[in-house]
Amino acid sequence: MRAILGPTTAALMLLSACGSLSDGVDYSDDRTAALIPPEIHVTPCSTVELVNFPAAEAGAAKAALDAACVVRRSPAFLTGVTARDWVPGCSLIPFVRHRAVTGASVRDAMADAGARFQLIYEDPGAVASTSVSAQSMRVRPERFQGWLTGDRDRRAALVNTLTHETTHLISEPGRPRVFRYTDRGQGSWWCPDRDLVSYGLGALAARTWLELSSEG
Ligand SMILES: [Zn+2]
Repeated sequence: MRAILGPTTAALMLLSACGSLSDGVDYSDDRTAALIPPEIHVTPCSTVELVNFPAAEAGAAKAALDAACVVRRSPAFLTGVTARDWVPGCSLIPFVRHRAVTGASVRDAMADAGARFQLIYEDPGAVASTSVSAQSMRVRPERFQGWLTGDRDRRAALVNTLTHETTHLISEPGRPRVFRYTDRGQGSWWCPDRDLVSYGLGALAARTWLELSSEG
């Protein structure tokens, strides 16, 4: 029997740690590079404060933020988001699926997500972690170094991460310290990544960027 849980079962944690370090990618954190002072980067989607970045990686962050914004506003991405229902978080009860929400509701929530946030160049012990109450995300240095290699898959991975973490910047209406979309407990058969708002939209953004950047 399959029970259905409502959104109130979404975890009330203040920090969302995403991805594991065991993804086969070599991780290097070059702390010898000089860091730039905090800098504001504005895209049509967000005003972003870049914190603790070396200069080259700050350039990668700006380019990736621009790319993620183009993707987020593209017809292909918006169509993909609205084409299906999504799961806002895993049920924390094993073998129980969480109730899904409509793609249209996710599209609307994403429309003004992360209007202003901090992007911090720092290893959070995962690929990335985001605080909804502080409106800040920490992304591991390897992601930005991957962008600088020019490798398309590694660039798509950063677009994926930025989009995924942006879903964690969305709070419950009137409750700025509560995530609307979580992924704690993700990856089980009753909560597959592809169905989650965070992982699903991240993967969709990566695919969309690969398609858009191969055209013209
Ligand atoms: Zn996540």
